[in-house]
Amino acid sequence: MENQIHQQDAISRSSLALLLDISRELAASLELRTVLARVLLLSTVNVGAERGSLIVLNETGQPVEAAIAIHGQVFHPTVEEMQSILERGLAGWVAQNRQPALIPNTREDERWTRRPDDAAERTGSKSAICVPLFSSGQLTGVLTLVHAQTGFFTTDHLALLQGIADLAGIAVRNAHLYRSMQEAQRRYRELFEDSIDPILITDWQGRILEANRQAQAVTACSLEMLLESSMDQLQSPQTPPLSEYFHALQEGQTVHYETELQRQGISPLPVEVYIRRVMVGESPMLQWILRDISERKQLDTLRDDLSAMIYHDLRSPLANIISSLDILQTLLPPDAAENIQPVFDIAVRAAERLQRLISSLLDINRLEAGQPIINKRPVQPRVLVNEAVDATHTLAESKRQQLSVVLDDDLPVISVDVDMIRRVLINLIENAIKYTPMQGAIEVGSRREGEMIRFWVRDNGPGIPQDALELIFEKFNRLQGERYPKGLGLGLAFCRLAVRAHGGKIWVESTLGEGSHFIFLLPIR
Ligand code: ADP
Repeated sequence: MENQIHQQDAISRSSLALLLDISRELAASLELRTVLARVLLLSTVNVGAERGSLIVLNETGQPVEAAIAIHGQVFHPTVEEMQSILERGLAGWVAQNRQPALIPNTREDERWTRRPDDAAERTGSKSAICVPLFSSGQLTGVLTLVHAQTGFFTTDHLALLQGIADLAGIAVRNAHLYRSMQEAQRRYRELFEDSIDPILITDWQGRILEANRQAQAVTACSLEMLLESSMDQLQSPQTPPLSEYFHALQEGQTVHYETELQRQGISPLPVEVYIRRVMVGESPMLQWILRDISERKQLDTLRDDLSAMIYHDLRSPLANIISSLDILQTLLPPDAAENIQPVFDIAVRAAERLQRLISSLLDINRLEAGQPIINKRPVQPRVLVNEAVDATHTLAESKRQQLSVVLDDDLPVISVDVDMIRRVLINLIENAIKYTPMQGAIEVGSRREGEMIRFWVRDNGPGIPQDALELIFEKFNRLQGERYPKGLGLGLAFCRLAVRAHGGKIWVESTLGEGSHFIFLLPIR
């Protein structure tokens, strides 16, 4: 009896020494495969097993890495192999039940026979022990040892293996976390390097600490040159100093502005700059992403050129045509008028339409740039409505549509850019004529509504789907389908800009198949 106690003590002491050794060994590496191989070899050798396996699980219980040791040699199975061991093997039972298992005779234990760990040799009886690995209460792996002899493993072996597993659980978890971190870093590195936008990392003084390939390519500077520069050297001198944005950046906001990127030996590049705070290790740094906006800038220039072209090259000759037509009209002999007048009218209306279109195009540009309305003068709403109807009734007649006018008697005078608001009304009426089929009915009207004047154009055309009621006021948005003849999609965008610039609002109410009701309000004062 006494002898037995001494023997137990000896085992415990040697176990303790062994565990100490193992913990030292495990602390020596963070490389997951190295850690696995060490744990496995130390376990098999110290417990006296012939074979063993160790599977590492992630937070969701999926196997991420494994090692198998056979007579001192270590192999790493594939993900599919690990999955199958875990699904069918004893390891699966231990992982599911989160408790150790000791099988003295694998032939007589259904956890083994039902889930043979080693299918090839399942015929021979063996013994096995298997323990779960935990770290902070979370299952991080399963360690299995096998011996060719039945009844080889004892509860002491199991206790020792659990001791090893407890140490290994933390080591395996650390190694796994370390690997995940390295992978995350590698992924970030790849994203950083392969980004199609130039990305730079700087300190809070704007001194460049890192620059990706694209940053080097776009600035035409080598990495060494960039690492000796700061962001104010790379941006146009007019750019506000970085210190202006410190507060916003410290708050975690992304700062962005447009500037020009100064480049080595080539012309500056217009860019949009996005700056935000990022943590590099423990220190807060700044990440700069630069986006090439040269195409947009070119389009802006093109648009300005086009506006100038429309203004000078189209508008003045058109004005000449209209005034020449006026003069010609007065020169016509009275007897010629009957035949020629209708042709004249067509020419005048077409020219005026063109003139309205050009003016609206120019207005869109001006209003979008936020220019205020300067040509305001007082006008009677009824005059606006009547003039708009005069300009469009021939078109309505050509489609045999009924164009009626509803006006309140004592409408107060409003102060607006008369030509612009008249064009808004004409646009709405022309749309109603265009989209309403032959013989349809269109009503144009105006009435007072509190401190506003309400204008409306109502038709009994195809109507507009609910989800498009807002969208059709956006530039270039058009409804598709046979019911909607082709157009540019600029008319309503112009109307909205013009009405809003006058402090008013515009919208449409509609029922599909019944018609549309465009309404806009303008303030009386
Ligand atoms: P355009 O008429 O040149 O296409 P608009 O901006 O004037 O451009 O109109 C945008 C779209 O709104 C039109 O394409 C059409 O689909 C729809 N729309 C405008 N007015 C009406 C209307 N009275 N009835 C039905 N649909 C309309």
